[in-house]
Amino acid sequence: MRNVKDQYSSQLTTFDHINRITKEFTQPLTQSGWAMPQEETKVKKTDPRGTELFRGFLHLSSAIGSDILKTQGAGGNTSIKDGGVMWVKASGTWLSKAEDQDIMVPVVVEPLVAALREGDPRAEKSTDFVVAEFNSSGLRPSIETSFHAALKSPVVAHYHCVNAIALAVLKDRDAELTARMSGVQDLKWVTIPYRRPGTPLAAEIEKVATSRPDVLVLFNHGIIVCGETVEEVESKISRVTKALSVTPRETATPDIAELTAIAQGSSFHPAQDCSSHAVALSQANQAIALGGSLYPDHVIFLGTEIGVLGDGQTAKDYEAALSRDGRDAPKMLLVPNKGVLLSSTLTAGGEVMARCLAEVVGRIPEGRAVAYLSKDDEHELTHWEAEQYRQALDRGSERQSA
Ligand SMILES: [Zn+2]
Repeated sequence: MRNVKDQYSSQLTTFDHINRITKEFTQPLTQSGWAMPQEETKVKKTDPRGTELFRGFLHLSSAIGSDILKTQGAGGNTSIKDGGVMWVKASGTWLSKAEDQDIMVPVVVEPLVAALREGDPRAEKSTDFVVAEFNSSGLRPSIETSFHAALKSPVVAHYHCVNAIALAVLKDRDAELTARMSGVQDLKWVTIPYRRPGTPLAAEIEKVATSRPDVLVLFNHGIIVCGETVEEVESKISRVTKALSVTPRETATPDIAELTAIAQGSSFHPAQDCSSHAVALSQANQAIALGGSLYPDHVIFLGTEIGVLGDGQTAKDYEAALSRDGRDAPKMLLVPNKGVLLSSTLTAGGEVMARCLAEVVGRIPEGRAVAYLSKDDEHELTHWEAEQYRQALDRGSERQSA
Protein backbone atom coordinates (compact mmCIF):
# COMPACT_ATOMS: atom_id res chain seq x y z
CA MET A 1 0.00 0.00 0.00
CA ARG A 2 1.36 3.39 -0.92
CA ASN A 3 1.30 5.94 1.81
CA VAL A 4 1.64 9.29 0.16
CA LYS A 5 1.80 11.55 3.16
CA ASP A 6 4.49 9.57 4.93
CA GLN A 7 6.46 9.37 1.76
CA TYR A 8 6.42 13.17 1.65
CA SER A 9 7.09 13.50 5.35
CA SER A 10 10.36 11.68 4.98
CA GLN A 11 11.42 14.07 2.26
CA LEU A 12 10.12 17.34 3.66
CA THR A 13 10.00 16.99 7.38
CA THR A 14 11.06 20.38 8.64
CA PHE A 15 9.80 23.90 8.44
CA ASP A 16 13.37 24.80 7.48
CA HIS A 17 12.68 23.22 4.18
CA ILE A 18 9.82 25.63 3.53
CA ASN A 19 12.03 28.55 4.48
CA ARG A 20 14.66 27.27 2.13
CA ILE A 21 12.22 26.99 -0.77
CA THR A 22 10.55 30.31 0.00
CA LYS A 23 13.92 32.04 0.20
CA GLU A 24 14.92 30.55 -3.10
CA PHE A 25 11.87 32.03 -4.76
CA THR A 26 12.00 35.43 -3.12
CA GLN A 27 15.34 36.39 -4.62
CA PRO A 28 15.14 39.54 -6.76
CA LEU A 29 13.90 38.69 -10.27
CA THR A 30 17.31 39.38 -11.78
CA GLN A 31 18.70 36.52 -9.72
CA SER A 32 15.81 34.13 -10.19
CA GLY A 33 16.38 33.57 -13.87
CA TRP A 34 13.64 35.77 -15.32
CA ALA A 35 15.42 36.97 -18.44
CA MET A 36 12.40 38.59 -20.11
CA PRO A 37 13.31 42.12 -21.34
CA GLN A 38 11.44 44.72 -19.26
CA GLU A 39 10.22 46.70 -22.30
CA GLU A 40 8.33 43.66 -23.62
CA THR A 41 6.25 43.15 -20.50
CA LYS A 42 4.37 46.49 -20.30
CA VAL A 43 3.78 46.07 -16.60
CA LYS A 44 1.91 48.79 -14.76
CA LYS A 45 4.08 49.59 -11.77
CA THR A 46 1.33 50.49 -9.33
CA ASP A 47 0.13 48.51 -6.38
CA PRO A 48 -3.67 48.01 -6.53
CA ARG A 49 -3.95 46.68 -3.00
CA GLY A 50 -5.98 48.98 -0.82
CA THR A 51 -8.28 49.98 -3.71
CA GLU A 52 -12.01 49.32 -3.55
CA LEU A 53 -11.67 46.95 -6.51
CA PHE A 54 -9.00 44.85 -4.81
CA ARG A 55 -10.94 44.74 -1.55
CA GLY A 56 -13.96 43.46 -3.49
CA PHE A 57 -11.78 40.79 -5.05
CA LEU A 58 -10.49 39.72 -1.63
CA HIS A 59 -14.04 39.62 -0.31
CA LEU A 60 -15.14 37.34 -3.15
CA SER A 61 -12.07 35.15 -2.58
CA SER A 62 -12.80 34.85 1.10
CA ALA A 63 -16.49 34.03 0.45
CA ILE A 64 -15.55 31.21 -1.96
CA GLY A 65 -12.95 29.99 0.53
CA SER A 66 -15.42 29.99 3.44
CA ASP A 67 -17.99 27.75 1.73
CA ILE A 68 -17.07 24.11 2.42
CA LEU A 69 -19.10 23.05 -0.63
CA LYS A 70 -16.79 25.16 -2.82
CA THR A 71 -13.40 25.11 -1.13
CA GLN A 72 -11.73 22.62 1.17
CA GLY A 73 -8.51 23.67 2.89
CA ALA A 74 -5.89 25.11 0.57
CA GLY A 75 -7.84 24.13 -2.57
CA GLY A 76 -9.17 26.67 -5.05
CA ASN A 77 -7.67 29.93 -6.19
CA THR A 78 -8.76 33.31 -7.51
CA SER A 79 -7.06 35.96 -9.63
CA ILE A 80 -7.50 39.51 -10.86
CA LYS A 81 -5.59 41.10 -13.75
CA ASP A 82 -4.64 44.75 -13.85
CA GLY A 83 -2.19 46.49 -16.17
CA GLY A 84 -0.33 43.38 -17.28
CA VAL A 85 -0.02 42.07 -13.71
CA MET A 86 -2.19 39.29 -12.29
CA TRP A 87 -2.68 38.86 -8.55
CA VAL A 88 -3.26 35.22 -7.75
CA LYS A 89 -3.59 33.20 -4.56
CA ALA A 90 -0.31 31.93 -3.14
CA SER A 91 0.38 28.21 -3.11
CA GLY A 92 -0.63 26.39 0.07
CA THR A 93 -2.64 29.30 1.50
CA TRP A 94 -6.36 29.21 2.30
CA LEU A 95 -8.75 31.39 0.27
CA SER A 96 -10.88 31.77 3.40
CA LYS A 97 -8.05 33.95 4.85
CA ALA A 98 -7.94 36.30 1.84
CA GLU A 99 -9.19 39.29 3.83
CA ASP A 100 -7.04 38.65 6.91
CA GLN A 101 -3.67 37.62 5.47
CA ASP A 102 -1.43 38.69 2.60
CA ILE A 103 -2.06 35.70 0.32
CA MET A 104 -2.13 37.23 -3.18
CA VAL A 105 1.04 37.10 -5.28
CA PRO A 106 1.61 39.36 -8.33
CA VAL A 107 2.87 37.82 -11.59
CA VAL A 108 3.41 39.29 -15.07
CA VAL A 109 0.78 37.86 -17.41
CA GLU A 110 2.14 38.00 -20.97
CA PRO A 111 5.58 36.44 -20.37
CA LEU A 112 3.94 33.65 -18.36
CA VAL A 113 1.41 32.89 -21.12
CA ALA A 114 4.24 32.95 -23.69
CA ALA A 115 6.19 30.47 -21.56
CA LEU A 116 3.13 28.21 -21.29
CA ARG A 117 2.62 28.26 -25.08
CA GLU A 118 6.29 27.53 -25.74
CA GLY A 119 6.39 24.61 -23.31
CA ASP A 120 8.92 26.52 -21.20
CA PRO A 121 9.21 24.56 -17.91
CA ARG A 122 9.24 27.86 -15.95
CA ALA A 123 5.47 28.10 -16.53
CA GLU A 124 4.96 25.13 -14.18
CA LYS A 125 5.79 26.93 -10.94
CA SER A 126 5.38 30.47 -12.35
CA THR A 127 7.88 31.72 -9.77
CA ASP A 128 10.10 33.35 -12.39
CA PHE A 129 7.21 35.64 -13.34
CA VAL A 130 6.59 37.04 -9.85
CA VAL A 131 6.79 40.84 -9.55
CA ALA A 132 9.22 40.75 -6.63
CA GLU A 133 8.83 44.41 -5.59
CA PHE A 134 5.10 43.89 -4.80
CA ASN A 135 5.38 40.36 -3.45
CA SER A 136 5.35 41.37 0.21
CA SER A 137 4.52 37.88 1.51
CA GLY A 138 7.46 36.30 -0.32
CA LEU A 139 5.18 33.36 -1.11
CA ARG A 140 5.14 31.31 -4.25
CA PRO A 141 2.15 31.65 -6.63
CA SER A 142 -0.46 28.89 -6.82
CA ILE A 143 0.43 25.80 -8.80
CA GLU A 144 -2.57 26.68 -10.96
CA THR A 145 -1.32 30.21 -11.82
CA SER A 146 -0.59 29.46 -15.48
CA PHE A 147 -4.22 28.70 -16.36
CA HIS A 148 -5.40 31.90 -14.65
CA ALA A 149 -2.94 33.80 -16.86
CA ALA A 150 -4.08 31.94 -19.99
CA LEU A 151 -7.73 32.87 -19.41
CA LYS A 152 -8.40 36.33 -20.82
CA SER A 153 -11.03 37.48 -18.33
CA PRO A 154 -9.90 40.04 -15.74
CA VAL A 155 -11.44 38.08 -12.85
CA VAL A 156 -11.13 34.29 -12.55
CA ALA A 157 -12.31 32.04 -9.74
CA HIS A 158 -11.40 28.37 -9.59
CA TYR A 159 -12.71 26.15 -6.83
CA HIS A 160 -13.48 22.55 -6.01
CA CYS A 161 -17.28 22.73 -6.07
CA VAL A 162 -18.53 19.40 -4.69
CA ASN A 163 -21.58 19.49 -6.98
CA ALA A 164 -19.44 20.10 -10.08
CA ILE A 165 -17.01 17.32 -9.07
CA ALA A 166 -19.83 14.84 -8.39
CA LEU A 167 -21.20 15.39 -11.90
CA ALA A 168 -17.81 15.69 -13.62
CA VAL A 169 -16.71 12.21 -12.49
CA LEU A 170 -19.67 10.48 -14.16
CA LYS A 171 -18.98 8.54 -17.34
CA ASP A 172 -21.99 10.24 -18.95
CA ARG A 173 -20.92 13.67 -17.64
CA ASP A 174 -21.32 15.39 -21.02
CA ALA A 175 -25.03 14.60 -21.19
CA GLU A 176 -25.56 15.30 -17.48
CA LEU A 177 -23.80 18.66 -17.60
CA THR A 178 -25.58 19.69 -20.82
CA ALA A 179 -28.94 19.04 -19.18
CA ARG A 180 -28.05 20.98 -16.06
CA MET A 181 -26.31 23.91 -17.75
CA SER A 182 -29.40 24.45 -19.93
CA GLY A 183 -30.67 26.32 -16.87
CA VAL A 184 -28.05 29.06 -17.47
CA GLN A 185 -28.23 29.27 -21.26
CA ASP A 186 -26.66 32.72 -21.56
CA LEU A 187 -23.40 31.45 -20.05
CA LYS A 188 -20.80 30.05 -22.42
CA TRP A 189 -19.49 26.85 -20.89
CA VAL A 190 -16.92 24.25 -21.89
CA THR A 191 -15.55 21.05 -20.42
CA ILE A 192 -11.87 20.31 -19.92
CA PRO A 193 -10.58 16.72 -19.85
CA TYR A 194 -8.68 15.61 -16.74
CA ARG A 195 -5.04 16.71 -16.70
CA ARG A 196 -2.65 17.03 -13.78
CA PRO A 197 -2.89 20.53 -12.26
CA GLY A 198 -0.03 22.77 -13.37
CA THR A 199 1.04 23.14 -16.99
CA PRO A 200 -0.70 19.99 -18.34
CA LEU A 201 -4.07 21.39 -17.22
CA ALA A 202 -3.16 24.97 -18.18
CA ALA A 203 -2.24 23.85 -21.72
CA GLU A 204 -5.74 22.32 -22.16
CA ILE A 205 -7.37 25.47 -20.82
CA GLU A 206 -5.24 27.69 -23.05
CA LYS A 207 -6.75 25.91 -26.08
CA VAL A 208 -10.22 27.30 -25.26
CA ALA A 209 -9.14 30.68 -23.86
CA THR A 210 -9.79 32.69 -27.05
CA SER A 211 -13.47 31.71 -26.94
CA ARG A 212 -13.67 33.51 -23.57
CA PRO A 213 -15.85 30.96 -21.76
CA ASP A 214 -17.81 32.03 -18.68
CA VAL A 215 -17.60 28.59 -17.06
CA LEU A 216 -15.15 25.73 -17.46
CA VAL A 217 -16.02 22.39 -15.86
CA LEU A 218 -12.81 20.48 -15.18
CA PHE A 219 -13.39 16.73 -15.30
CA ASN A 220 -12.37 15.01 -12.02
CA HIS A 221 -11.30 18.32 -10.55
CA GLY A 222 -13.70 21.28 -10.18
CA ILE A 223 -14.86 24.44 -11.90
CA ILE A 224 -13.62 27.81 -13.16
CA VAL A 225 -15.86 30.88 -13.44
CA CYS A 226 -14.62 33.93 -15.39
CA GLY A 227 -15.89 37.47 -15.79
CA GLU A 228 -15.14 41.11 -16.49
CA THR A 229 -15.79 42.24 -12.93
CA VAL A 230 -15.86 40.82 -9.41
CA GLU A 231 -19.63 41.36 -9.27
CA GLU A 232 -20.16 39.53 -12.55
CA VAL A 233 -18.15 36.52 -11.35
CA GLU A 234 -20.04 36.53 -8.05
CA SER A 235 -23.36 36.44 -9.89
CA LYS A 236 -22.26 33.70 -12.32
CA ILE A 237 -20.98 31.57 -9.41
CA SER A 238 -24.31 31.79 -7.68
CA ARG A 239 -26.25 30.85 -10.84
CA VAL A 240 -23.93 27.98 -11.83
CA THR A 241 -23.95 26.60 -8.29
CA LYS A 242 -27.74 26.48 -8.42
CA ALA A 243 -27.76 24.83 -11.86
CA LEU A 244 -25.33 22.09 -10.76
CA SER A 245 -26.74 21.60 -7.28
CA VAL A 246 -27.36 18.00 -6.20
CA THR A 247 -29.05 16.98 -2.95
CA PRO A 248 -26.75 14.62 -1.04
CA ARG A 249 -27.93 11.11 -0.24
CA GLU A 250 -29.41 10.68 3.22
CA THR A 251 -27.33 8.55 5.57
CA ALA A 252 -27.58 7.15 9.08
CA THR A 253 -25.95 9.15 11.88
CA PRO A 254 -22.41 8.28 13.03
CA ASP A 255 -21.85 6.35 16.24
CA ILE A 256 -19.13 8.53 17.79
CA ALA A 257 -18.99 6.64 21.11
CA GLU A 258 -18.42 3.33 19.36
CA LEU A 259 -15.92 4.89 16.92
CA THR A 260 -13.97 6.29 19.86
CA ALA A 261 -13.84 2.83 21.45
CA ILE A 262 -12.76 1.23 18.15
CA ALA A 263 -9.98 3.85 17.72
CA GLN A 264 -8.65 3.40 21.29
CA GLY A 265 -4.90 2.71 21.45
CA SER A 266 -4.40 3.33 17.72
CA SER A 267 -3.10 6.29 15.73
CA PHE A 268 -6.65 6.97 14.47
CA HIS A 269 -9.47 9.13 15.82
CA PRO A 270 -13.11 9.66 14.78
CA ALA A 271 -13.36 12.42 12.12
CA GLN A 272 -14.09 15.62 14.03
CA ASP A 273 -16.35 17.10 11.38
CA CYS A 274 -19.60 15.19 11.80
CA SER A 275 -20.48 15.40 8.10
CA SER A 276 -17.26 13.57 7.13
CA HIS A 277 -18.67 10.29 8.44
CA ALA A 278 -21.22 10.01 5.62
CA VAL A 279 -18.71 8.08 3.47
CA ALA A 280 -19.12 5.04 5.76
CA LEU A 281 -22.82 5.45 6.48
CA SER A 282 -24.39 4.32 3.22
CA GLN A 283 -23.62 1.31 1.00
CA ALA A 284 -23.62 3.49 -2.11
CA ASN A 285 -21.24 6.06 -0.59
CA GLN A 286 -18.82 3.32 0.53
CA ALA A 287 -18.83 1.61 -2.86
CA ILE A 288 -18.16 4.86 -4.74
CA ALA A 289 -15.38 5.94 -2.36
CA LEU A 290 -13.68 2.54 -2.47
CA GLY A 291 -13.93 2.28 -6.26
CA GLY A 292 -10.92 4.52 -6.89
CA SER A 293 -9.56 8.06 -6.69
CA LEU A 294 -11.96 10.75 -7.88
CA TYR A 295 -9.97 14.04 -7.94
CA PRO A 296 -6.40 15.31 -7.30
CA ASP A 297 -6.65 16.82 -3.79
CA HIS A 298 -7.96 13.55 -2.38
CA VAL A 299 -4.91 11.68 -3.69
CA ILE A 300 -2.54 14.40 -2.57
CA PHE A 301 -3.82 14.68 1.00
CA LEU A 302 -5.37 11.28 1.77
CA GLY A 303 -3.45 9.00 -0.59
CA THR A 304 -4.74 6.37 -2.97
CA GLU A 305 -5.97 3.83 -0.40
CA ILE A 306 -8.90 3.93 1.99
CA GLY A 307 -8.94 1.23 4.67
CA VAL A 308 -12.05 -0.67 5.78
CA LEU A 309 -12.33 -2.24 9.24
CA GLY A 310 -13.77 -5.74 9.43
CA ASP A 311 -16.70 -6.55 11.69
CA GLY A 312 -15.55 -6.40 15.33
CA GLN A 313 -12.00 -5.36 14.35
CA THR A 314 -10.35 -2.50 16.24
CA ALA A 315 -8.11 0.11 14.62
CA LYS A 316 -5.25 -1.13 16.80
CA ASP A 317 -5.67 -4.70 15.46
CA TYR A 318 -5.90 -3.35 11.93
CA GLU A 319 -2.65 -1.40 12.34
CA ALA A 320 -0.89 -4.40 13.87
CA ALA A 321 -1.93 -6.60 10.92
CA LEU A 322 -0.61 -4.03 8.44
CA SER A 323 2.60 -3.65 10.37
CA ARG A 324 3.17 -7.45 10.34
CA ASP A 325 2.90 -7.27 6.54
CA GLY A 326 5.30 -4.31 6.46
CA ARG A 327 2.61 -2.01 5.05
CA ASP A 328 1.82 1.59 5.97
CA ALA A 329 -1.60 2.44 7.37
CA PRO A 330 -3.94 4.49 5.15
CA LYS A 331 -4.95 8.00 6.23
CA MET A 332 -8.65 7.17 6.27
CA LEU A 333 -10.44 4.12 7.69
CA LEU A 334 -14.09 3.31 7.10
CA VAL A 335 -15.98 1.57 9.86
CA PRO A 336 -19.04 0.39 7.91
CA ASN A 337 -22.32 1.86 9.20
CA LYS A 338 -20.53 3.54 12.13
CA GLY A 339 -18.38 6.30 10.61
CA VAL A 340 -14.91 7.38 9.57
CA LEU A 341 -11.60 7.21 11.45
CA LEU A 342 -8.76 9.50 10.39
CA SER A 343 -5.04 9.22 10.97
CA SER A 344 -3.75 11.49 13.72
CA THR A 345 -0.87 12.43 11.38
CA LEU A 346 -3.27 14.42 9.17
CA THR A 347 -3.06 18.20 9.15
CA ALA A 348 -6.16 20.42 9.10
CA GLY A 349 -5.78 20.43 5.32
CA GLY A 350 -5.92 16.63 5.28
CA GLU A 351 -8.86 16.38 7.72
CA VAL A 352 -11.00 18.63 5.58
CA MET A 353 -10.41 16.36 2.55
CA ALA A 354 -12.40 13.67 4.35
CA ARG A 355 -15.34 16.10 4.44
CA CYS A 356 -14.84 16.85 0.76
CA LEU A 357 -15.01 13.15 -0.08
CA ALA A 358 -18.22 12.77 1.92
CA GLU A 359 -19.82 15.73 0.12
CA VAL A 360 -18.75 14.45 -3.31
CA VAL A 361 -19.65 10.75 -3.00
CA GLY A 362 -22.99 11.61 -1.40
CA ARG A 363 -23.89 13.61 -4.52
CA ILE A 364 -22.86 11.00 -7.10
CA PRO A 365 -26.13 9.44 -8.24
CA GLU A 366 -26.46 5.77 -7.26
CA GLY A 367 -25.90 3.16 -9.96
CA ARG A 368 -24.11 5.50 -12.39
CA ALA A 369 -20.73 4.54 -13.88
CA VAL A 370 -17.86 6.61 -12.50
CA ALA A 371 -14.72 7.67 -14.39
CA TYR A 372 -11.98 7.34 -11.74
CA LEU A 373 -8.45 8.66 -12.10
CA SER A 374 -6.14 6.12 -13.72
CA LYS A 375 -3.13 4.53 -11.99
CA ASP A 376 -0.92 6.78 -14.13
CA ASP A 377 -2.87 9.85 -13.01
CA GLU A 378 -2.41 8.78 -9.37
CA HIS A 379 1.30 8.19 -9.85
CA GLU A 380 1.75 11.59 -11.46
CA LEU A 381 0.07 13.25 -8.46
CA THR A 382 2.07 11.38 -5.85
CA HIS A 383 5.40 12.17 -7.51
CA TRP A 384 5.04 15.89 -7.98
CA GLU A 385 7.45 18.37 -6.41
CA ALA A 386 5.10 21.38 -6.48
CA GLU A 387 2.55 19.46 -4.41
CA GLN A 388 5.16 18.50 -1.87
CA TYR A 389 5.77 22.22 -1.37
CA ARG A 390 2.04 22.87 -0.89
CA GLN A 391 1.85 20.15 1.74
CA ALA A 392 5.00 21.38 3.45
CA LEU A 393 3.34 24.79 3.78
CA ASP A 394 0.24 23.13 5.22
CA ARG A 395 2.35 21.41 7.87
CA GLY A 396 4.24 24.67 8.47
CA SER A 397 1.07 26.68 9.10
CA GLU A 398 0.01 24.11 11.69
CA ARG A 399 3.32 24.38 13.47
CA GLN A 400 3.04 28.15 13.52
CA SER A 401 -0.41 28.06 15.09
CA ALA A 402 0.49 25.35 17.59
ZN1 LIG B 1 -7.91 22.96 -8.49
